[in-house]
Amino acid sequence: MEKYIEAFVNSFFGSLNWTWKSMLFEVPWYVNFFWGLTLISLVVWGVELLFPWRKRQKFFRNDFWLDGFYMYFNFFAFSIVISGFYKIIGLLFNDVGGTKNSICLFDVTQFPGWVQLLIFFVLLDFVQWFTHILLHKYEFLWRFHQVHHSVKEMGFAAHLRYHWMENIFYKPLKTIAVMLLGGFEPEKAFIVHFVAITIGHLNHANVKVSWGWLKYIINNPVMHLYHHAKSLPEGRKNGVNFGISLSVWDYIFRTNYIPESSGIIALGWKGDEDFPKGFFEQLLVGFKRNKKG
Ligand SMILES: [Zn+2]
Ligand SMILES: [Zn+2]
Repeated sequence: MEKYIEAFVNSFFGSLNWTWKSMLFEVPWYVNFFWGLTLISLVVWGVELLFPWRKRQKFFRNDFWLDGFYMYFNFFAFSIVISGFYKIIGLLFNDVGGTKNSICLFDVTQFPGWVQLLIFFVLLDFVQWFTHILLHKYEFLWRFHQVHHSVKEMGFAAHLRYHWMENIFYKPLKTIAVMLLGGFEPEKAFIVHFVAITIGHLNHANVKVSWGWLKYIINNPVMHLYHHAKSLPEGRKNGVNFGISLSVWDYIFRTNYIPESSGIIALGWKGDEDFPKGFFEQLLVGFKRNKKG
């Protein structure tokens, strides 16, 4: 028992210390997610302001500060708290006889570095796409995911407005995916994480970019706007365009839907009028019974 408590405390303070050192520029720049996230946010915000798709959207759009707060909360505050719990789960897993390599499907280390990175990126993106579909399909998961869909005006920071439970829902499949690669996380995984943050920010930004023919591979703000649309096309009651960084899964599995329009559409879901608007009320939404179902 003592071992678990010690691991929890070490991991908690380790993450806290790492975040603090990141803020003070005391960690290598390429793994500095605090300033990395801040820099990417400023750049994407600048692009939104210079080339807005919806011209009337304000400089500080609706809920700008709420989403900004979510961004740092989900990325840092939450991950510091949860790191200790993950550490304990990892230890328990090892203690019951599992090893990191036990479900390894193939050895990716035989490939060049950039291929390993690509496999890591594509596999992680696929399991996130699949998890995202589950978040829409099952009522108890959807209630948490509603926080992300409560965005009424899109802007880069809306990317990271989501309920902290989502981190927990995404974790199991992501962990299994990495275990299939023999517990392997490439040395340059930070590149994948920064690319994912940038694409995610752009997907929510107020810009009209769809990457030409690459739209069949890479997700984009036009496609993702319709993921947030209040009215869904006939026969698609669970939603459309579930892609995270890649759009290709939606095209393969026919969950894609992009009508041509001005980009000025109502966001949310039918019956979202009573949804709580503040951060602290939203922290509890998924745990409460939904009156409207
Ligand atoms: Zn969604
Ligand atoms: Zn979104």
